[in-house]
Amino acid sequence: MKFGGTSVGDGVRMKHVAELAKKYRDGGNEIILVTSALSGVTDALLKNAKDASESGKTSLIKEFIADLTKQHHKAAHEAIKTPYTGSILEKVIRELDSRIEELEKALIGICYLGELTPRSIDYISSYGERLAAPILCGSLNSIAVKSHSFTGGEAGIITTEEYGNAKPLEVTYSLVKERLEQPLNEGIPVVCGFIAENEAGIITTLGRGGSDFTASILGAALKADEIWLWKEVDGILTTDPHIVPEARPIPVISYIEAMELSYFGAKVLHPRAIEPAIRHGIPVRVKNTFHPDAPGTLVVKDQKLSRDIVKAVTVITKVALINISGAGMVGTIGVAARVFTTLANAGVNIVMISQGSSEANISIVVDEAHLDKAVKSIKAEFKNGTIKEVTHDRKISVVAVVGAGMANTPGVAGRVFGALGKAGVNVIMISQGSSQHNISFAVSEDGAKKAVQVLHKEFGLEREK
Ligand code: ADP
Ligand code: ASP
Ligand code: MG
Repeated sequence: MKFGGTSVGDGVRMKHVAELAKKYRDGGNEIILVTSALSGVTDALLKNAKDASESGKTSLIKEFIADLTKQHHKAAHEAIKTPYTGSILEKVIRELDSRIEELEKALIGICYLGELTPRSIDYISSYGERLAAPILCGSLNSIAVKSHSFTGGEAGIITTEEYGNAKPLEVTYSLVKERLEQPLNEGIPVVCGFIAENEAGIITTLGRGGSDFTASILGAALKADEIWLWKEVDGILTTDPHIVPEARPIPVISYIEAMELSYFGAKVLHPRAIEPAIRHGIPVRVKNTFHPDAPGTLVVKDQKLSRDIVKAVTVITKVALINISGAGMVGTIGVAARVFTTLANAGVNIVMISQGSSEANISIVVDEAHLDKAVKSIKAEFKNGTIKEVTHDRKISVVAVVGAGMANTPGVAGRVFGALGKAGVNVIMISQGSSQHNISFAVSEDGAKKAVQVLHKEFGLEREK
């Protein structure tokens, strides 16, 4: 069971989480808890690290550390609250203080050095989970549940060296089993989500929202019966509730659909969170911490008998469009290969691709943060003239409709673009994978919200099923 940042947002909520986990354990289950940082803490750590490297002001660090200490002390006092828990609370406070002292030293180091490397960003951002785990563990101890806390590395998650987006190595799956089996028999181990270690023992992170991924890795390693991701929404919804308040929980969804919708921007799941579950076909449940009795969403291998053609509508923001054109591209073999190799070598993440059959034009959507290096590297690669023009547009969003039922159902694309046309939303670029599990298209940033609302309605997603 993983609990997200809002679910462990303060000490009162952490106590609720500890009690919920105890209830399930008393009901005859073995449980591992994966915790996120308290809500907002990862963002605050990243911001302060950046400010430290840019301003070099140690006074700002002192202020931040004082606030962080206060927040975590308060959470510990609230989470560990029964008449006879004095020594548990003291132990947790000591642990928090010693971790916060390390963090302060690291941030002051960054102030003096004036630089922030990907490795140090991972190190600093790991403190959110490293401060949350001891509190949750203490909260369990205070209600008489045996529990130890583990960092991701201590739990056995060993990753590549890709700081900020590390992937687990195969050895993880045997190490986790070795390290957690015993603690799992005895009580409820608490593991820090999001963070891991590379083979040299240096802290890495699994990408923002990575605690979902942690839970799934642990579940796969231990061949769990189910992986539960507890959040502040009633499951995976038909779209982002901030855009369409009528969005509804999807009761059952397949692995492939859940992966597609997280790749295409649904912030509810980390994009890799389903991969480990697939190894052993483990069902993943997404539930609401604040409505534990609501069924949530069940993500399973195959879902038969779905009446819904389209299950969800998603949107990716902060992307940009690059248009590459030139008559010299027509019939010239290898242009696309050179474009993609060049972008891969430059470390550009490609979100979407489309090439017209005239071959005179290739359109690519990339992360906005990668736009400048993408354009620069393409211009350098093709300075000989095969490509005449490279233009770009920053104010773009990508909208996708997702659903396995679209495969072999004629007319879905017609409905999508017909509805958009009627609503006056201009479509800039279209792409449909041959798996036919999604149709995605680029629109201007201003048109994205309307596009999502129109399609949510067109496919009847707001109606009770
Ligand atoms: P946590 O970090 O607590 O595990 P997240 O914050 O990652 O949970 O995910 C829940 C948030 O994702 C919601 O607050 C919601 O605004 C957003 N969201 C975006 N798209 C969807 C969707 N299709 N279904 C559910 N939530 C979504
Ligand atoms: N705390 C991390 C983040 O905010 C990981 C997570 O919450 O899943 O990205
Ligand atoms: Mg998340």
